[in-house]
Amino acid sequence: MQLFGQMMYQPMLLSSLLERAARQYSGVEIVSRDAEGDIHRYTYRDCHTRSGQLAQALQAYGIKVGDRIGTLAWNGYRHMETYYGVSGIGGVCHTINPRLFPDQIAYIINHAQDRMVFFDASFAALVEQIAGQCPRVERWVMLCEKAPLPPSFSISVESYEDLIGGLDENFEWPHFDERLAAVLCYTSGTTGDPKGVLYSHRSLTLMAFSSALPDSLGLSAVETVAPVVPMFHVNAWGLPFSAPLVGAKLVFPGAKLDGESLHSLFEQEGVTLSAAVPTVWLGFVDYMRRSGKATQTFKRAIVGGAACPPQLAASMREVGVKAVHAWGMTEMSPLGTVCSRSHELAHAGEDEWARVSTKQGRALPGVELKIVGPDETELPWDGTSAGELMARGHWVADSYFGSDKSTLRDGWFPTGDIATIDPDGYMHITDRSKDVIKSGGEWISSIELENIALSHPDVESAACIGCAHPKWDERPLLVVVRREGSSLDAWQLLSFYSDKVAKWCIPDDVVFVPSLPLTATGKLQKVALRQKYGNHFVDSLGRT
Ligand code: ADP
Repeated sequence: MQLFGQMMYQPMLLSSLLERAARQYSGVEIVSRDAEGDIHRYTYRDCHTRSGQLAQALQAYGIKVGDRIGTLAWNGYRHMETYYGVSGIGGVCHTINPRLFPDQIAYIINHAQDRMVFFDASFAALVEQIAGQCPRVERWVMLCEKAPLPPSFSISVESYEDLIGGLDENFEWPHFDERLAAVLCYTSGTTGDPKGVLYSHRSLTLMAFSSALPDSLGLSAVETVAPVVPMFHVNAWGLPFSAPLVGAKLVFPGAKLDGESLHSLFEQEGVTLSAAVPTVWLGFVDYMRRSGKATQTFKRAIVGGAACPPQLAASMREVGVKAVHAWGMTEMSPLGTVCSRSHELAHAGEDEWARVSTKQGRALPGVELKIVGPDETELPWDGTSAGELMARGHWVADSYFGSDKSTLRDGWFPTGDIATIDPDGYMHITDRSKDVIKSGGEWISSIELENIALSHPDVESAACIGCAHPKWDERPLLVVVRREGSSLDAWQLLSFYSDKVAKWCIPDDVVFVPSLPLTATGKLQKVALRQKYGNHFVDSLGRT
């Protein structure tokens, strides 16, 4: 006979995270900088009260369990309230990436069947442009002060403060099944239409607990956390949930993410920890170097979304900030690994740790990883065998919104990344399967070649892509932005590789460009580069 434990059952609901923060850390601040640069300041208690008011407004209008509500907004307190107000009554907060093409945004809103959309004033023109394509949206709500709204609107728009104003300040959050959907986020759709990933209360709560641990993001009540990663893409890596969980102060940077704007905000608010993609940190370090400014409190930067080049980690160290490498993806809510010291490496010197910390790190408790070869056999954790990275765990998607087709292979989610895992469990992404360069039957890691280019003092940014080659199938081409004032040429840069990789891995050519295309989430847009330069070698060999 099975013998069950005799413990209370409490559903894991997101509302309970904020409710506890409002009691336990009631005076801890949430600071938001708006698009104009003005600072708004309130506390977890205020956030909880106003989220409850939003919940009542939605219920009064007839929003039901499972209904989707879209958001088009920067990181800020009203966006945080929609996270909690919508999900707290069983609705689904559908965060939309405003940097996508308007047609893609309309597609996503229609696919999700959003009943209402909340948007920041800076996206008013976008909303007017797409509203006609989204006939199912019943109400457009601008995240702004009370009406009157600008009379120029061509569609009917309400103000957020009108919507929630005057409602009861004491709202009792309903209890429901923890497996119900809470947040919906679409992948960027670099291949095909965007696909919706539907997170549950349970999955997000468990990720918040696990990600706060000392060897994960190391969050605590004494930290001041600035989520620079957008709340419109994969829950700002869960920080709007994990920060209230531990009672950390939150600082939302709004729309301005350049080095100077972030530095001044961090200094003013005493930010200790932040999280962003490498391109943001490149800008940050560049500003600190140019201005000669220091950081007083800011000591840890989570770097993820794309590989953290060793050179970036080294530059951050030089300015006094520790880069903490993390890996994940939309389908993983997104956190899969964080690179932190193992027991064996507790006292490793800086050089040794710098070498290990270029890896993406070890799986968070609650996530399992393995690597498999082309025939699906599991590969050893020896730090050299590279295979497709597979994941499973409490916050890994098993299918996409609106589809009952499983995304899993034999119970595991195929990540599309190629990785090695060493005997201590440190996972290292060598490439994305669609970016890996297949030359004469061998695989060349585009990330490794990019990292070498980035370690050259005259290179500002670099991308490496596989281009069609009549003899070798594909050969690597470097696309490079030089540092200002540099006259670096292709021969000089390619000679730089000679003592760093095998001869056959050295790129065949370099194209210098003024800037590199980025995706809506700030990553290198290699698809666009492949479209433009894919025939570089075919064309140039044809000419000779
Ligand atoms: P998309 O880029 O399609 O929007 P995601 O935002 O979910 O999708 O990105 C997930 C992918 O980003 C991962 O599968 C991986 O290829 C890449 N990625 C994320 N973090 C890292 C990292 N630290 N190092 C290397 N690649 C990373």
